[in-house]
Amino acid sequence: MADRTKQIRIVGAGPSGLCAAINLARAGYGVTVYERNDEVGRRFHGDFQGIENWSTPVDFRDTLHTMSIAPDFFCRPYSEGEFRMRGGYGGAVTSPRPLFYLTLRGPMEGSLDRSLKTQALDAGVTLKFGCRRNPGDGHIIAAGPGKPNVMASGLIFRTDLPDTAMAVLHNGIAPGGYAYLLVQDGRATLASIYYRDFKGAAEHLERTTRYFQAGRSFSMEGTRRFTGYGNFYPVRSAVHRGRLYVGEAAGFQDFLFGFGIRYALTSGYLAARSIIEGRAYDLLWRKVFGRQLAVSLANRYLLQCFGPLAHRLIIWGTTRGNPWAFMNRFYNSAASRLLAHAPAARWLQKTAGGDSRPWPARTASPNRNRCGRHPTA
Ligand SMILES: Cc1cc2nc3c(=O)[nH]c(=O)nc-3n(C[C@H](O)[C@H](O)[C@H](O)COP(=O)(O)OP(=O)(O)OC[C@H]3O[C@@H](n4cnc5c(N)ncnc54)[C@H](O)[C@@H]3O)c2cc1C
Repeated sequence: MADRTKQIRIVGAGPSGLCAAINLARAGYGVTVYERNDEVGRRFHGDFQGIENWSTPVDFRDTLHTMSIAPDFFCRPYSEGEFRMRGGYGGAVTSPRPLFYLTLRGPMEGSLDRSLKTQALDAGVTLKFGCRRNPGDGHIIAAGPGKPNVMASGLIFRTDLPDTAMAVLHNGIAPGGYAYLLVQDGRATLASIYYRDFKGAAEHLERTTRYFQAGRSFSMEGTRRFTGYGNFYPVRSAVHRGRLYVGEAAGFQDFLFGFGIRYALTSGYLAARSIIEGRAYDLLWRKVFGRQLAVSLANRYLLQCFGPLAHRLIIWGTTRGNPWAFMNRFYNSAASRLLAHAPAARWLQKTAGGDSRPWPARTASPNRNRCGRHPTA
């Protein structure tokens, strides 16, 4: 029987930590979340991100309802866009159901991060900012990525472009990854996501900007630059010394394209359920998205191996017929998993530097514990 008088400590106030906190607090637990920054969402800068809506038949908004999260943040469905690859091959994407939900990330009003913070405070969660904690201090570790092995460089600006969503698979502007331009109500985010050649960050961004400008010239005002990173490594278990790891801290990430928000929220929710219902967390996440995680790894490996050929297949599948159905099959493909399972795992071991759960090792030192101001904002 779960002990509801127990106080739960969570390290990290990103989507995974806050989703776990909201669900635990609503179930009657006392919850404290420690965040090293002075506010939520400091990892982001007001950039648009897409929450993919193709990996499961359940619409993202319905999963929010299951996870007791109100959709009172900027969250706009997109069913149309443009998808291209090097050489101009590609075209319009039109889906019968939303392919993704556009959302805003950062500490500002209307963002996913700010909304989750408000919902956590309303549920009775105590938030302690300016508090860097060791994993040993938490029951749930939600501290985000470790060392980077995928990077992002981007721009945020105001523009005269109409609303649009464009993605480009092109190793010349985003090595191993993709570039995108998202515009909503005159606000734009343009970025290059690259899996190699990290030293060429400035060049990737410059080429990406030129690429989009060459397609159609547009105004760019109040431009701000941002960088970001993510990491992926093999996940066998997300429980370490009795602590439950969630979100990117556990290695839960879409290996193929880096759509990590859904993994973050879902794993936070499952960690909460594991505590509330006294069920094994590893069994819960494996059942809900373990297979998908493995397929995304296999797909990334195949993309690395086949490069432009794989790009062509993805563009072909999304620009004709039903792009939602194509992406759903692609993200759940047993064939990809079987084809690439063992080599993909070996490749990942090599790329990520072994069975690295980098977080506990990096922060083992007790003097990394710092708790400065505690504004419960
Ligand atoms: C530029 C960029 C673009 C992206 N675009 C998309 C997208 O379009 N779609 C998508 O689905 N995903 C996208 N992602 C990935 C997505 O943002 C992440 O997967 C998601 O935010 C992970 O949530 P999380 O809760 O695991 O970690 P985080 O959001 O990183 O939150 C972790 C929190 O823990 C805090 N913390 C860290 N260490 C400590 C410590 N020792 N003590 C206390 N607090 C600590 C951090 O300050 C942070 O607030 C993008 C990522 C980047 C970088």
